[in-house]
Amino acid sequence: MAAFQLESWLHGIIEENLNGDEAFRRFSGKNPAHPLTRSDVEAYRDFHLQRTLQYAYENSYFYREQFDRSRLKPSDIAGFKDLAKFPLTGPQHLAQYPYRFLCTSQAVVARPCIFVTSGTTGPQKEIFWSQWDLEKITEFMAAGISTVATRDDTVQILLPDGKPNSQADLLRQGVAKFGARPVVSGAEQSAEEQLRILDTFHSTILFGFTGQLYRISKELQPDHDLQLKGVKVLFLAGEYLPAARRRELETIWNCRVHTHYGLTEMGLGVAVECTAGDGYHFNEADLLLEIIDPVTGERVKPGDEGELVFTTLTREAMPLIRYRTHDLSRLIEKPCPCGATSLLKFDAVRKRLESVVTLGNGAEMYPTLFDDLLLSIAGVIDYRVKLLRHESMDRLEFTIETIRENDNVLAEINRTLRLAPVIADNIAAGSMNEPRVKLVGMGAFRTADRAKKMIVDCR
Ligand SMILES: [Zn+2]
Repeated sequence: MAAFQLESWLHGIIEENLNGDEAFRRFSGKNPAHPLTRSDVEAYRDFHLQRTLQYAYENSYFYREQFDRSRLKPSDIAGFKDLAKFPLTGPQHLAQYPYRFLCTSQAVVARPCIFVTSGTTGPQKEIFWSQWDLEKITEFMAAGISTVATRDDTVQILLPDGKPNSQADLLRQGVAKFGARPVVSGAEQSAEEQLRILDTFHSTILFGFTGQLYRISKELQPDHDLQLKGVKVLFLAGEYLPAARRRELETIWNCRVHTHYGLTEMGLGVAVECTAGDGYHFNEADLLLEIIDPVTGERVKPGDEGELVFTTLTREAMPLIRYRTHDLSRLIEKPCPCGATSLLKFDAVRKRLESVVTLGNGAEMYPTLFDDLLLSIAGVIDYRVKLLRHESMDRLEFTIETIRENDNVLAEINRTLRLAPVIADNIAAGSMNEPRVKLVGMGAFRTADRAKKMIVDCR
């Protein structure tokens, strides 16, 4: 099998560095006769890490202080291994002191980005990107699109159509950079309107949020044969995708479904699902990844679950060093069937630190457990869940959006929930009441924000 496109792209960048940067050539000691391997990717990573640390030390008030407080100099950190000595950066630092991170004058900033993540609990944060940063961001988007598209494809972008350099606009630039045709159809159009745009432009790839594309698909399905529309790929963002829902979407459109993992702080696009379909390769041209124990801050053993922590390697306006994502995942170490031999790969993110609630008996519960259960039931579109305390026991209350509100669906939902170990074990142990379920009709959650799903803890 040909190498995964993201690997060819990264190798191209490393080759460019080897040809154009004398300092990197000396640092890497690469033998030009040998093909690139993991150790060349690591040399590239460590070289750009050193540059980033020196640059942040000289230009960012925040990082200068972090170095001074830790009694470190950039020269004390030669590479990945030494980076563990440096303090972590948290979302709260960004929320408190955004301007102290800035390494350029504000005149250089092409796009300040103000956003809130982590449901309704996360603080508001500001990120600044220079024109150089935006070029890097759209280059990675082009590389990400190349993993699912050819230059003959038309990519319909179902993201909110905002200002120039909005997420939709940057993706439009990325698709154009790759050489395919972008069509921004926005997020607020009706399902019929999205289909009309698809028919007009002969879109072959649809890019949007998982829940949004599922809802559109279910709304259109009764009146249209979507299998005949010529769509090759649904490229989905934003939410965890249970296997059953992936299969359902693949059947509805008779196409492949790929997902990606994104994070605004890291430049929107971070990682794309590899063709093997069981994990993500990420943007190793611009990001360094560590996985840490969220309690101790120590790195976990390869393959163990921990929090994803990224360091930017090429950022100009606002480099971030050891930035905590609060997303939990693990490295997948075995050789990847997609053919990539020099890329790291991590598992789907099933938990966020904020999304885990601890029950009275110490057991952990998080929303993707319910995604796997509920979104596998035909007719369920979306749901919300609350955890309450009732007669000194835990109780879950679900509000579930379904295509039809009928007794069969309700019975199946109740059966599925009660048999699930995450609920059944706690009921058997006497620490939880039977869950309560309320059905609402299709469209009830349509206007809700697309923040990451939480178990709303009302105890
Ligand atoms: Zn792969």
